[in-house]
Amino acid sequence: MDNETLKTETPAPAERSLNFIEEIIEKDLAAGKNGKRVHTRFPPEPNGYLHIGHAKSICLNFGIAQKYGGKTNLRFDDTNPTKEDTEYVDSIKEDIQWLGFKWDAEFYASDYFEQLYEWAVQLIKEGKAYVCDLSQEEASEYRGTTTQPGRPSPYRDRSVEENLDLFARMRKGEFPNGSKTLRAKIDLASPNMHMRDPIMYRIIHQEHHRTGNQWCIYPMYDYAHGESDSIEGITHSICTLEFEVHRPLYDWFIATLKIHAPQQIEFARLNLSYTVMSKRKLLQLVQEKHVMGWDDPRMPTISGLRRRGYTPASIRLFADKIGVAKRDNTIDVSLLEWCVREDLNKKAQRVMTVLDPVKVVITNYPEGQTEELEAVNNPEDPTMGTRKVTFSRELYIEREDFMENPPKKYFRLSPGTEVRLRYAYFVRCTDVVKDAGGNITEIHCTYDPASKGGNSPDGRKVKGTLHWVSAAHALDAEVRVFDRLFSSPTPDEVEEGQTFLDNLNPHSLEIKRGCKAEAFLADAGPLDHFQFERLGYFNVDPDSAREGRLIFNKTVGLKDTWAKENAKA
Ligand code: ATP
Ligand code: MG
Repeated sequence: MDNETLKTETPAPAERSLNFIEEIIEKDLAAGKNGKRVHTRFPPEPNGYLHIGHAKSICLNFGIAQKYGGKTNLRFDDTNPTKEDTEYVDSIKEDIQWLGFKWDAEFYASDYFEQLYEWAVQLIKEGKAYVCDLSQEEASEYRGTTTQPGRPSPYRDRSVEENLDLFARMRKGEFPNGSKTLRAKIDLASPNMHMRDPIMYRIIHQEHHRTGNQWCIYPMYDYAHGESDSIEGITHSICTLEFEVHRPLYDWFIATLKIHAPQQIEFARLNLSYTVMSKRKLLQLVQEKHVMGWDDPRMPTISGLRRRGYTPASIRLFADKIGVAKRDNTIDVSLLEWCVREDLNKKAQRVMTVLDPVKVVITNYPEGQTEELEAVNNPEDPTMGTRKVTFSRELYIEREDFMENPPKKYFRLSPGTEVRLRYAYFVRCTDVVKDAGGNITEIHCTYDPASKGGNSPDGRKVKGTLHWVSAAHALDAEVRVFDRLFSSPTPDEVEEGQTFLDNLNPHSLEIKRGCKAEAFLADAGPLDHFQFERLGYFNVDPDSAREGRLIFNKTVGLKDTWAKENAKA
């Protein structure tokens, strides 16, 4: 099949050209490599929750398989029992499914421990691996530096018989942690440090979440990863840039063992401004309770973004927008926010909710009267229809939508001015009531019955439109408003003696109690999305159901600064 026919069968999305990985794949397909199969894998280590960087890798691996009619495996890279746990396995599976992807098969590197052991024995028999007794410090000293070649370990020339015996006894558990390793015998003069007799196995006496106490020697990433790819028939093993220097070793094991050779391809990892992305640091935030948990809405984890109100489509859109680069860079978090706004604008039910209420009394509206006014559910999607909102004599509006002594160009409510109450009427402020401390407790207005629906009766214009709720019909709600978790765009860059924790933003969570929500929200369920008119996008926090009261998270505001900045650029 040549490139042309290939393209007609699997058209690339019209709006963008092929990325460099797709180019490699199309070339391989055209050349008939791997029997024209495309098989990728997503290989998380179950030592933490997935974050937005992983989402990029997931979208890439699953996206490529979808595009080329291939397959994607989910493989847990569970070769280090000290940090791994089934809690993480479960959360990873949940997050991938939520993002909208289905793996073709689920595997664990630990499934291959026996095969990996047999291959290690084979390498020993071929004189290509040896048991080494150097401590970690000694071994790194012997390994040399980038300018100095390494020196051979005193154990490098052990006989095959001795190595086979020692390796078998390592497996049996005869030696303590750290006392011995199995190393590949490659090249101590290589300019690539990874080729200077890298460690294949280390001794760790620790129960594994799947293999229990069956093993006390565990393969290193470099030895396990390529072989696992090979066993599964992976064609393109996509990983992040830091593994580029590992690629000669990846290829060496596979070539030496003479097994199926997947191609490792590296791309730039995602870095986001105002956040940290290493699992170690995210774990520290959780363990030291700087956040509510892995799914805290301020976390860059997939579970955090979900709880914050991000949709799977918005994260997939983000992954698509940032593309696949060969050089590391940092993406502005406002692009991610732009993506969720873009998606929710199309989907979110509109409602009116007042976060900081002040009472309005419509003095010429009959006491005890109510009426049902028609409100549009989503102006972007007429199929979502309309709903009724209840109007009455006593309402709440946002405290900041009223000013007693307004500056020029203040288009909201002030004494003597007229504004529109959304979907309802024109109202004009007549006077205010204050408490002993001078705080406004009630705003008095009159309404114009001829302006029903918020339409001008005589062509006269009002500049402001306010959201409101009927006091007697509103629901009480708590609203959690978030700011960035870190106050620095680069939290990892710290002064001497500081850590990334010193960059935490002390004001990243504001809890607003006593908010007043439109009665429509009575039936809102966990994670349901809404646009609170004029305020932004919000969703129902799962705490809502647990605590039996309405709790919302602010997903993102309505303002679209990223697009504006980009339009300028
Ligand atoms: P961390 O450094 O956060 O601990 P990791 O690379 O150790 O992450 P893994 O579970 O090993 O996490 O990663 C699974 C896959 O996700 C790997 O292929 C890895 O390259 C990819 N990945 C991890 N972080 C990012 C990122 N920031 N951007 C893109 N891909 C990533
Ligand atoms: Mg890793």
